[in-house]
Amino acid sequence: MINKSSIQAKIMSAILLTCTIVLLLLCSAFILFEYLSYKKSVKDNVSTLARVIAGNSSAALAFESYSDAREILNGLKNNPHIESACLYDASGHVFAVYPDTISRKKIPPTPQTDGYKFSDNALVGFEPVRQEASRLGTMYIRSNLDQMYAQLNNLLLTSGCLLVGLLLVTYLLSVLMQRPITRPIRAFKDGVRRISEEHDYSVRITQTSQDELGSLTDAFNHMLTQIELQNETIGKLAAIVESSNDPIISITLEGIITSWNDAAERTFGYAADEIIGKSVFNIVPDERRHEEAEILARLQRGESVEHLETQRLTKNNRLLDILLTISPVKDQYGKIIGASKISRDITEKKQEERRKNDFIAMVSHELKTPLTSTRSYVQILLAEARKRNSDAFIINALTRTDVQTKKMTHMINDFLNLARLEEGKLQLILRVFELQTLVEEIVGDAQFLTKNHKISFLNCDHIKVKADREKIGQVLMNLLTNAIKYSPKGGEITVACAIDNQKAIISVRDQGVGIKQADQQKLFERFYRVENNELRTISGFGIGLYLVAEILRYHGSKIQVESQEGFGSTFYFSLDIAQE
Ligand code: ADP
Repeated sequence: MINKSSIQAKIMSAILLTCTIVLLLLCSAFILFEYLSYKKSVKDNVSTLARVIAGNSSAALAFESYSDAREILNGLKNNPHIESACLYDASGHVFAVYPDTISRKKIPPTPQTDGYKFSDNALVGFEPVRQEASRLGTMYIRSNLDQMYAQLNNLLLTSGCLLVGLLLVTYLLSVLMQRPITRPIRAFKDGVRRISEEHDYSVRITQTSQDELGSLTDAFNHMLTQIELQNETIGKLAAIVESSNDPIISITLEGIITSWNDAAERTFGYAADEIIGKSVFNIVPDERRHEEAEILARLQRGESVEHLETQRLTKNNRLLDILLTISPVKDQYGKIIGASKISRDITEKKQEERRKNDFIAMVSHELKTPLTSTRSYVQILLAEARKRNSDAFIINALTRTDVQTKKMTHMINDFLNLARLEEGKLQLILRVFELQTLVEEIVGDAQFLTKNHKISFLNCDHIKVKADREKIGQVLMNLLTNAIKYSPKGGEITVACAIDNQKAIISVRDQGVGIKQADQQKLFERFYRVENNELRTISGFGIGLYLVAEILRYHGSKIQVESQEGFGSTFYFSLDIAQE
């Protein structure tokens, strides 16, 4: 249960309670001490009196003088508290009583053990009467305790008044003493209340003491400064987010939208109130759901996702091409708790790209048919010329035409594959084939392109792989044409096969210009070409290695490169060996 009383009340109660307990204990001890002293003094007085009377009575008892005994006992009249007394003779019979009028029933019939004791609100005592060594009898005396009780009453009254007086003083002191403690606490409380009610973090609490409370105030003010700074940063960020032309939204790890800026409203058509708290899948087209699920799964695993080209759906079911930039949102312990996404609308750029792709695809397709028939006629003419042992010039010219048309066919095939890739229409036709024959074929074709290079192959026999033969042929052809192009001084080019871990490893090595480490990372990007003076004259489109990488990616493989500038390069990849 929460104690709701104020600190002031608690401090005062503590002071008052402590003082009351101390005063009560002191008073009780004092009263007890006084009570015991009173009892002792009553006992001392009565026993002294009894001893005197007993001493005086010895003659009266020795001579059995009743009148003397009575007279001596009557001497007790001077003490108004003595209620009764008597003298017993040596044989224990009552000899004389005081006062005369007292009933014998109120006197003990026989003497009891010598000594004094308190009983029935009185002090009762038996005192021996002696004459020298012999005992003549016993004196009995009974005194009331009225005087002692009267004194005790006075004492209690005085103590009570004193206690009340002291408590009053304590109360006044406690009021004064709690002030220096509660004043800064109250100031602190007022400050905190103002901050929480008005959300005004510019308020600072005045430090009124140098003690723990002072340090607490200091720490609190420091915290307020931090909050103010953070609010300022958050304010700036919020302004940036709001004024951004790109939609910026935040989601939880479960994909629930938690923030939605104006640009998001403009782009996707949903108002913030309408979509906040709902699932992000509302703007994800069905065919892209797996991507979003993957993003959330990766964030949940604590991994980050950075950029992604994808598509989103507007409220009116319009499909947008989007470049997503995803930044994980972390809590104070660095744990990912959600993500903030910037969605750049790249629909127009994508459409432009598609138009370009369509154009390239269309042109390549249109060029392919006449080129195929040209190639066939050239080959027929070449065969005919050889058969008729024609002029060497004619044979040479036809051979060159054949090589150039082959080169052009490869180029067109590259463009067609690029267009297919862009449209997501690249399909593999997997079948089992002998590596050796494919390598032989491609090396033969490549060798036709150059006289400066010697292209050889080794260790490829008896290896069967399962892959798309035509596309792997294209991969090899692209690697070989690059090896030729980028070894302008000629040299040896080697295609080598090896088996490692149930995989066929195929490598193409040249002794050409080599590639700088920094460029090696980017070679496989679309349209990437290394730029330097030496290579300026070498023609190309920057799509060869991109296609190689993509075709291999479709095969579940990866192109890799090892190269040293000035010494040559080796490109290699692996393919699944066909199970017999
Ligand atoms: P292209 O050859 O048409 O420029 P590629 O995609 O085939 O495009 O190659 C990209 C870049 O990689 C080339 O511009 C070239 O600089 C570099 N490159 C490719 N193969 C080699 C190689 N065997 N040796 C040196 N550089 C190479």
